[in-house]
Amino acid sequence: MSRVVVVGGGYGGMAAAARLAKQGHEVTLLEASGRLGGALDRVERDAFTWQAGPSTMLLPAVARDLFRKSGRPLDKELELEHHPVVREHRFADGSSLVLPSSSREAQLHAVDALSPGLGEAWLAHVAAYGETWELLRREYLERPWDPALADRATTARLLPRETLHRRLRRALPDRRLRVAAAYPALAEGHDPRQVPAWVGLTAYLEQRFGVWSVPTAAGGTAALADALVRRLRTRRVEVELDTPVLDVVVRAGRAVAVTTAAGDVAADVVVCAVDPRRLPALAPHVARTVPTLPAPAAHLGLEADGLPDLVAETVLHGKDATLSVVPGGRAPDGARAWTVRGRGRIHDDVVEALAREGLDLRKRVVRRVDVNPRDQVTRWGGSPWGVQWQGRGTVLARLGPRTPIAGLYAAGAHATPGAGLPFVGLSAALVAQAVGPA
Ligand SMILES: Cc1cc2nc3c(=O)[nH]c(=O)nc-3n(C[C@H](O)[C@H](O)[C@H](O)COP(=O)(O)OP(=O)(O)OC[C@H]3O[C@@H](n4cnc5c(N)ncnc54)[C@H](O)[C@@H]3O)c2cc1C
Repeated sequence: MSRVVVVGGGYGGMAAAARLAKQGHEVTLLEASGRLGGALDRVERDAFTWQAGPSTMLLPAVARDLFRKSGRPLDKELELEHHPVVREHRFADGSSLVLPSSSREAQLHAVDALSPGLGEAWLAHVAAYGETWELLRREYLERPWDPALADRATTARLLPRETLHRRLRRALPDRRLRVAAAYPALAEGHDPRQVPAWVGLTAYLEQRFGVWSVPTAAGGTAALADALVRRLRTRRVEVELDTPVLDVVVRAGRAVAVTTAAGDVAADVVVCAVDPRRLPALAPHVARTVPTLPAPAAHLGLEADGLPDLVAETVLHGKDATLSVVPGGRAPDGARAWTVRGRGRIHDDVVEALAREGLDLRKRVVRRVDVNPRDQVTRWGGSPWGVQWQGRGTVLARLGPRTPIAGLYAAGAHATPGAGLPFVGLSAALVAQAVGPA
């Protein structure tokens, strides 16, 4: 049995801890703040509750695998809800695209409604990612990838010359469709000119496996963290809250302990599930990476009377900024809880910017909590959006599941294969695989 210390109790750290404990290791999880979950978090004000971080997720199979492999299946813990609509895109010319989830056929009709004949181009664009998904799933996402040993097909796919921006220009003849297809990367804070083409496979995941969340009545997606807290207890993971890790102690090239204000905690294996640039032993190894900041947000409590009904996340593509409205927070009778986020040039604040784009909520606001990017990074001890794409080489600049230091592994949004709940879940599975059973 190895003594494992996991640094950081966000989704990545909790998932790694649960898996490694089930594999027979003695696991201690050290969390800097007073609660577990990281970005799986809520904002509460009076009778309103909003999801502070993720509201939906792709690839529910990753969460299901985590719960199955660490004890009882997920459906014994939580209900997942399928969303029939991925999101609605509203364009500056007044047209809109309501993109259905989990259906080729429904997407064909929805995109054709934007402009006849466009549906086929969209289906061809999405279908082209099918092969990429199968290859990367096998060689990169579900087993530790070693660039020195990798086959040429995987390397070519992971390190393409083609950027997402160029792929969309080549594949999609309509500007609005290109803007909609670039949105997931933009929402995560990336410039599509710096993102490799394969990252566009989220469109394939949305179409093939759908968009999911935990129902609002069951606590929303942050309830995933609550279920993991219970799982860590069952697996007898020792959790220390309010315990920031200051560094990793390395002797003879091997991680042997972590340093906290109360002293060193000895370990045979250390898992870094935080931004590695914050741990001096790892910082030089990620000197080329830059974090991606969360977007500024406003959590709004709104009078329901006369409010338009939003079927899903609604994205307004304006001239200067892209604004996203996520409905579905918990609100008292007669009210709604929505979250507005914005990317781009927002001169004042996201609610004013939204009004300029034609969705004016200002007169209906009864509660409001603003959070800027810095508040979010401070609250979660780093950015839950991980590493910024700076061209295809970013794949090599990120750590994980192994690091250059023996016995030290990397999981979470800053590690391979990247941010977002499914990928962070996969990062923990990769670490568990690389460490192996006790
Ligand atoms: C606003 C927002 C919306 C999002 N929406 C979605 C979405 O809809 N769907 C989706 O799939 N993903 C979404 N994401 C991304 C997703 O939430 C993250 O990628 C994921 O939760 C990151 O998990 P993590 O464990 O890597 O990091 P975090 O959640 O950031 O957790 C890191 C943890 O480590 C702790 N910590 C930091 N430093 C130390 C230290 N030195 N010692 C000990 N502990 C430390 C922190 O306190 C924190 O608890 C969103 C993110 C944000 C910010």
